Amino acid sequence: MVESKRISEILNSYDKKNLRIATVCSHSSLQIFNGARREGIKTIGIAVGKPPKFYDAFPLGKPDEFFVVDSYKDIPKCTKELAEKNAVIIPHGSFVEYLGADNFANIELPTYGNRNVLGWESDRAKSRIWLEGAGLSMPTEIKDPRKIDRPVIVKYHGAKGGRGFFIAKNNEDFEKHLDRDQKYTIQEFVLGTRYYVHYFYSPIQKNGYKLSKGALQMLGIDRRDEANIDEAHRLGSIEELENIGIKPTFVVTGNGPMVLRESLLPKVMEMGERTVEKSIELFGGMVGPFCLECVVTDKLEFKVFEISTRIVAGTNLYISGSPYADLVQPGLSTGQRIAQEIKSAAKQKKLGEIIT
Ligand code: AMP
Repeated sequence: MVESKRISEILNSYDKKNLRIATVCSHSSLQIFNGARREGIKTIGIAVGKPPKFYDAFPLGKPDEFFVVDSYKDIPKCTKELAEKNAVIIPHGSFVEYLGADNFANIELPTYGNRNVLGWESDRAKSRIWLEGAGLSMPTEIKDPRKIDRPVIVKYHGAKGGRGFFIAKNNEDFEKHLDRDQKYTIQEFVLGTRYYVHYFYSPIQKNGYKLSKGALQMLGIDRRDEANIDEAHRLGSIEELENIGIKPTFVVTGNGPMVLRESLLPKVMEMGERTVEKSIELFGGMVGPFCLECVVTDKLEFKVFEISTRIVAGTNLYISGSPYADLVQPGLSTGQRIAQEIKSAAKQKKLGEIIT
């Protein structure tokens, strides 16, 4: 990982009155560029090959300039040029995926958030230590396939976007489906309804829902649409489908808006709070947007099956506010909140606390 001293040196050389927000043109970039524009910060859209035309269809989400590279893997070679433009990188899921987690960790550019979080997020065993250590309840992990005593979901390591996961009802079913060449984790399949909760943690905010350091916000909730599992029942039961060679998949195709029973909100805030506090203890704290991916059971228990530690695409639903963000500031998006944070940290001379 790039030394924090190196990032401080680059940041020190920046003109703090002319910081630019830069991200890869994908995932939640329209929202990030729009949010920066609303806060009066100029933006750079990093694109491969040529400037993507689709931004012309969404002028308020178009970056002020495009920075074109031949391949995402070339970004680390262009850091000098981007640093001359005072670029602060905003990571999102596709940014980290396209670049590769190692390249991303090593990129010599000021990046919003704590890079130490990467290792804790991407390793399922470590994220379990983090989340269970924070007192959150997770789906039970079944280490020995012979002990499968309930429906399970099998997750191959490194499987992208839920492609390649499978559901098994018992050990026999598991053995039938397993690809023995891949590493996997077996998790209890939790029945309930899914909620993907979008939080924002600021280590420098002084008001609001305070934590041991800074404050926590909850800006929205979505549910992912996943093909083909979400609508598979239209054709028959999973068993019937498998009999004709159709396997359930969990590929995210889009997102829909959600709100939770209001009585569950104290629990939601407490879960976010504990997650942040534990992150401070384990690796100096995550910074900015994160998402707890949960199933809520009919006993109203939250089971957290994953954490995303940067802006999630589900926040794209709320470019002009959400039922929760509107109670913080009408029309606030996560993209705008990121821009506000960078502006506020620059003003307070605290950029070093939110950028690594
Ligand atoms: P993940 O890659 O862990 O986010 O999982 C992809 C999708 O699989 C999720 O969005 C859920 O729809 C589903 N899923 C993951 N874990 C579980 C679980 N333990 N119980 C039920 N559904 C799950």
